[in-house]
Amino acid sequence: MLEVIHVTKKYHKVLANDDINFVIPNGQIGILLGPNGAGKSTIIKCIMGFLKYQGQIRVNGLDNKSVEAKKIMGYVPEIPSLYPNLTVDEHMEFIARAYKLKDYKAYKDELLTRFDLDDRRKKFGDELSKGMQQKLSICCGLLPRPQLVLFDEPMIGLDPHAIKELKILLQELRDKGCSVLLSTHMIDSIEELWDTTYIMQRGRVAAVVQRDQIGEEDKKLEDIFFEITEGGSDNEQRDDAPEREE
Ligand code: ATP
Repeated sequence: MLEVIHVTKKYHKVLANDDINFVIPNGQIGILLGPNGAGKSTIIKCIMGFLKYQGQIRVNGLDNKSVEAKKIMGYVPEIPSLYPNLTVDEHMEFIARAYKLKDYKAYKDELLTRFDLDDRRKKFGDELSKGMQQKLSICCGLLPRPQLVLFDEPMIGLDPHAIKELKILLQELRDKGCSVLLSTHMIDSIEELWDTTYIMQRGRVAAVVQRDQIGEEDKKLEDIFFEITEGGSDNEQRDDAPEREE
């Protein structure tokens, strides 16, 4: 379970996350949906413990910055960050050693096969196409079988087969009782995947939409998204005008 409690993050004067609160129970998929600059990546980086912030974040009751929490967290960043001099296989081995994994080889093979990387095991990080890098990044994030998985815009750059595979994997993670948080601004890419969607705008959670709400109100997520977000430009200057982070 992921608990985000009163989290506020400022980059100097830019209020990127403004008192964010939500809980993703085990076996549920939460979506962060929002326009560019809404604060989706920032809250994901706060959850991963990469940024300083105010507030509290707990993973299965553990402080998110503790080693115990990090062992059960998986992260697929918006931009894959691979080692140019490690091969596909070596990336997976590196993750296995870093997490001190045992009995991971079958799962490693399964992931590489599912994401069409099996015949590219000997290729180096900088020899992979953008989409292949994204696929390897997903495989690395999932190899430790995390109980909480954070995906930042995971569909970007993936081919249709990989998107289909990722959607199946997300459902499998949910069925295994993992908590999943996925950010996107591509509403179509997530149609049938989510339990709760958090619509973010200007650093805040502007609306929380439960899946059953959609059926009851006979509205599409897209309709709700535009109801919430239209009428104000996300590029508008905030009261505290943005300054460059040094
Ligand atoms: P996108 O959909 O474009 O990826 P996002 O919803 O993930 O956007 P964030 O990247 O979290 O948005 O950015 C939220 C706000 O914080 C934006 O105003 C952005 O300009 C600002 N911001 C993000 N990173 C930094 C940084 N390192 N320094 C200063 N401001 C930043």
